[in-house]
Amino acid sequence: MTTNKTQCFLCKKHKFTYSCRGCSKEFCFDDLTKHRQDLTEEFNTIINNYDQFRQSLQQTKENPQNSSLFIQINQWEKNSIDIIRQTAQQCRQTFLKENEEFLVDIEEKFNKLIREIKEIQEENEMNEMNLKDLKEKLREITKEFNDSSEISIEEDSQTFIKRISVKSTRK
Ligand SMILES: [Zn+2]
Ligand SMILES: [Zn+2]
Repeated sequence: MTTNKTQCFLCKKHKFTYSCRGCSKEFCFDDLTKHRQDLTEEFNTIINNYDQFRQSLQQTKENPQNSSLFIQINQWEKNSIDIIRQTAQQCRQTFLKENEEFLVDIEEKFNKLIREIKEIQEENEMNEMNLKDLKEKLREITKEFNDSSEISIEEDSQTFIKRISVKSTRK
């Protein structure tokens, strides 16, 4: 008995088979049903993945602030402010230290002048010469006190914080 039986792709048995147009493979009746179930399952998985994609799209649309680029911009802002704060803090500390030393120095000089004045008072030795000298010394120390050129702020020509911008190559 010659048969038109062929090998089923799944169970490998020789049976009456049915051809699937999609994959051009031969299946026995039972396995054709199974093959169709497999295709349906795969189709459902794909629909599921499409749904997930739509959800991600919707979430991204509703919450653009959760995007990694948005977070990166916030991070840059925070880091830059931190750098500025740290630098300002260092500058304030250096200024306070230098300024204190400067004032202590002026005060020492001034106290020396006060001692000279007291000596003159005690000895009662005012004369045109030492009055002129005292006026001159006060003028000098006043000038030094008002001269702020010893401590100054220097601006760096280098870019301190790297500037960022958003670039798009979208058509
Ligand atoms: Zn089969
Ligand atoms: Zn098939």
